[in-house]
Amino acid sequence: MRFHQSESAFFVLITVILLAGMVTVHAYGVLSGAGPMLYEPGRIENAEYLARLLFATGVLLATALFFGVLFIYPQIRSQVKEEGKLRAMTAKLSARSETLEQAALTDALTGMHNRRYFDEALKEYLEAFGQIGKPVGLMILDLDHFKLVNDTHGHDIGDEALRSVAGCLRGLTRYHDVVARLGGEEFAVLVPNMESEGLVRFAERIRKAIAATAVASGNIRLKVTASVGLAVWDGKESAEDFFRRADQQLYQAKRQGRNRVCA
Ligand code: GH3
Ligand code: MG
Ligand code: MG
Repeated sequence: MRFHQSESAFFVLITVILLAGMVTVHAYGVLSGAGPMLYEPGRIENAEYLARLLFATGVLLATALFFGVLFIYPQIRSQVKEEGKLRAMTAKLSARSETLEQAALTDALTGMHNRRYFDEALKEYLEAFGQIGKPVGLMILDLDHFKLVNDTHGHDIGDEALRSVAGCLRGLTRYHDVVARLGGEEFAVLVPNMESEGLVRFAERIRKAIAATAVASGNIRLKVTASVGLAVWDGKESAEDFFRRADQQLYQAKRQGRNRVCA
């Protein structure tokens, strides 16, 4: 076993104090053994011996004091400083990795959750709600003729439209709904604890809000619509099958003329 420098210094300190203690005990032994003899004339050598022992104790204690002040304390100080630096560094690193983790799960354009986050959340929600036997609804939204919006007004206006749809979704969903941009002009909302009827009403509210929101940039004002596919988890199917069912409903909504909800 290798000792750290400050551990070795501590052992030296303890040894010096122990020696001082032994000398003191020895001096006490001499003192109590000699008794009154100590004070008899001609017994001066006992007193001298005791004085030397006391002096040795003083020297040992002074050594311990200097050793503590000059060697041990500076080492403790530098260790405390180093530890502080290390702690600040690890705090910075963990904050940075948290930011990176956050960035990896966030859609940069809208600031909402991204596909990766959504896929994880979908699996977790199905597992948790499967255990308590509560329904889970899923809503997939795709903006209608969005390519045309980009082609007509430019990509920047397209981006603005995506941000305003994200704002609509954020404003209308509840705190425990998972809202994400899956990619491109496609969004999803995972709606825990909601049956089919409620889910249709909820989706209609969102669809109407999107259609009513004007996207404004400079002197351009436009409106976008969304088609919505819905599904309520049957309690058995996999996350992939559940998602596919909602996606098929979205396809139906597109086929039936867009700007509508299909369940
Ligand atoms: P549909 O009604 O059938 O969905 O038609 P659509 O034009 O919306 O669908 P399509 O898949 O043909 O086009 C999607 C468009 O979305 C094409 C692409 O330019 C646009 N898009 C995807 N991601 C972004 C983005 O980040 N910003 C902008 N501005 N446009 C995007
Ligand atoms: Mg699309
Ligand atoms: Mg589209």
